[in-house]
Amino acid sequence: MSFEVIVVGEGIAGLATARDCARAGLRTGTVEQMMFGGLVTSINELIDWPAGEGGPCSGSDLAASWITEAADAGVESLGGCATGLDASAGGLLLRTDAGTHEARCVVIATGASRRPLGIPGEADYVDRGLSHCADCDGPLVKGADVVVVGGGDSALQEAAVLAHYARTVHVVHRGTTFRARPSVHAAFEQAFAGRGEALRIHWQSTLASIEGTDGIDAVTVAGPSGTSRLPVRAVYPCVGLVPNSGWTGLATAADGAIETDARLAASLPGTYAVGAVRAGYGGRLVDAVADAVLAARSVKESLQC
Ligand SMILES: Cc1cc2nc3c(=O)[nH]c(=O)nc-3n(C[C@H](O)[C@H](O)[C@H](O)COP(=O)(O)OP(=O)(O)OC[C@H]3O[C@@H](n4cnc5c(N)ncnc54)[C@H](O)[C@@H]3O)c2cc1C
Repeated sequence: MSFEVIVVGEGIAGLATARDCARAGLRTGTVEQMMFGGLVTSINELIDWPAGEGGPCSGSDLAASWITEAADAGVESLGGCATGLDASAGGLLLRTDAGTHEARCVVIATGASRRPLGIPGEADYVDRGLSHCADCDGPLVKGADVVVVGGGDSALQEAAVLAHYARTVHVVHRGTTFRARPSVHAAFEQAFAGRGEALRIHWQSTLASIEGTDGIDAVTVAGPSGTSRLPVRAVYPCVGLVPNSGWTGLATAADGAIETDARLAASLPGTYAVGAVRAGYGGRLVDAVADAVLAARSVKESLQC
């Protein structure tokens, strides 16, 4: 079956784009390699998101409500992992591990993956103390000491969640100030208010190693005055995201984010990019929604020409 538009990725940016395209009367499909929802599904309390009266305020509730809206609008969920994109006589060919699809336009909404710390043995501790979801496993570290690595939005958001469970949250940050948005910073400070002893910030520091037998027993932190060993039970790496763009062959910025013009069109005619995979993305869910509105309008206009 040939589609007018296929959206690759069922994160918030992809779901919103697909829903808006279908509501505009376009035959729309989506391709998703895993579960719908993307990054947002690990967040229990959304910041900077206008949930509204009775609206979803956790990431998984938001994703669940939007996959329903997309389906109700007529979006067809095709499944599969996208592996390549080519121009064809009829428009574009999207290759996936589950087959090839034809569409006149393709919107890339494949988001971004967590950047690894890049220290020896890191992979051995995944799900054995090394976690990317404080909301999921915070209760498991109740009363223990833990480390969050990073100084941006995600790091402070994870630390704020852990403040409810851990005895001490060590935040290891290579900079001298945090980069988080004011709203995220305020939530972080609120979480530790009156519990100053529960927070230790290691400025100008990096995580040098993780050690442990069954799980994590300790980490080594390298800072301005040398290295120190911290006994901890868990490590939460929040050192940035890597755009999932490699499979597209589209023009990207140095960090791998897809370059787009003011209409969110990418380098191959008929392709567009929205959300965390594109260069210049604002970083918040409201920005993903704004991208979706613009991309759906651009796709519709291009198909009417
Ligand atoms: C810890 C953390 C907390 C955050 N908290 C907030 C918050 O409180 N408020 C806020 O506004 N923002 C928050 N954000 C930011 C927000 O989550 C992101 O901006 C938003 O989720 C990006 O959505 P996306 O759809 O662009 O990408 P993603 O959510 O990454 O979705 C991309 C989807 O594409 C799929 N995919 C990837 N590659 C392929 C492929 N080759 N084929 C098929 N499918 C593929 C993935 O499986 C995924 O489902 C937070 C981010 C993090 C990391």
